[in-house]
Amino acid sequence: MRIKIAAGNWKMNQSYQEGIHLAQEIIEKANPQKDELVILGCPYIHLKDIINLSQEKTNIKVAAQNCHQEKSGAYTGEISVSMLSSIGVEYVILGHSERRQYFRETNEILSAKVKGALSSNIRPIFCCGESLEIRTEGWHIRYVKNQLVKALFDLSPEDFKRIIIAYEPIWAIGTGLTASPQQAQEMHFEIRKTIEEHFGTSIANNTSILYGGSVKPNNAKELFSQPDVDGGLVGGASLTSESFLPIISALSTPKV
Ligand code: PEP
Repeated sequence: MRIKIAAGNWKMNQSYQEGIHLAQEIIEKANPQKDELVILGCPYIHLKDIINLSQEKTNIKVAAQNCHQEKSGAYTGEISVSMLSSIGVEYVILGHSERRQYFRETNEILSAKVKGALSSNIRPIFCCGESLEIRTEGWHIRYVKNQLVKALFDLSPEDFKRIIIAYEPIWAIGTGLTASPQQAQEMHFEIRKTIEEHFGTSIANNTSILYGGSVKPNNAKELFSQPDVDGGLVGGASLTSESFLPIISALSTPKV
């Protein structure tokens, strides 16, 4: 069964107190169905306490927003997968375009991070997506497929099963521009087809592929109604319960 997911990405926002308050509201009011999952991608300072707060709701989880590819060592300011796993973190966002752009994370580095996370039993939410320039030039599908192939396709089928994909066109992140439901569906279909060609139909059909890029309460239903869109990775609109709760509810939108 393919799980539908509303994942929030708080990025570098929320004081400790604000984040805990927001998480409390979401945990209290969200009502994800049995085939649905809510993931709060919060800063490191919130992880442990939100894990504790969400104990009674099995389908609300937290994600870290990054991890280092090395197991341990002299990497001042970084965090390792074993540190995350020692406090019960089960998910990590990897390959967000902001990390690729500002922190120069290449597909090779991301491949190492993915393997490290999986080895500590942490599931990657792996982000991919093209710039506006690439889309305008018309090779966005090839570009995104290449990101997947380079970072994920040398995994064993057993490991790949644990990956969640987030397609996030860079031109739609934090810009208020959203991919149309048709543009999102086209890319998600291509991503699933590529997974099928490499890992087979069953794995492809069970992989959750999220859309990210200015998902808001007023467009979530239409996006999530697309056959290959299994929910969203949500930045700005995950920062208040007023905007994130309706997006969580939109997961139940029937498919077109
Ligand atoms: C994101 O941070 O991954 C994102 C999609 O942001 P926003 O929803 O604000 O566009």
